[in-house]
Amino acid sequence: MSPRYDVPNAAPEPLRQVQLFVNSADRENGVEWLPDWLAEHGMQGELERARGLRESLRALALANNALPLAGSAVEVFNDAAARLRVELDESGRVRLAPIADPLDRIVEITLGAMLDGTWSRLKACRHCSWSFYDKSPNRSGTWCSMQLCGNRSKTRSYRRRRKVD
Ligand SMILES: [Zn+2]
Repeated sequence: MSPRYDVPNAAPEPLRQVQLFVNSADRENGVEWLPDWLAEHGMQGELERARGLRESLRALALANNALPLAGSAVEVFNDAAARLRVELDESGRVRLAPIADPLDRIVEITLGAMLDGTWSRLKACRHCSWSFYDKSPNRSGTWCSMQLCGNRSKTRSYRRRRKVD
């Protein structure tokens, strides 16, 4: 289910689960695996909720890549996050209440990554929206793959410049 330059840009577990969920669509090639993801997780019938959550996560991952964040994406994510509960564990530390729903689990992992600082490395490619984990030391990665999208974008702006000339 993971074509292209996915594996070299794999996020560490458990954030990888969020990345695979975001990449349950290949928008550039018009491929949609979300029904398969839902079937694998016993969540058939949750297509609308899952798609809304996935696209809000994609928007957040694009925002990690310096694109503006739509308020609607924040709203959708907040609705999903409202299903979770914060509680204390036996030793009095804050945690998210254990949950069984795989979509809630995706939200839980995302919030955990936001708290531990790894979230900002999960980006969506500015060209194709594919989600990749930015392993560069200064977090400057922009493309899912320099070969695929980086060069393509360079060629495009080169052509644009030539047209103007
Ligand atoms: Zn790309």
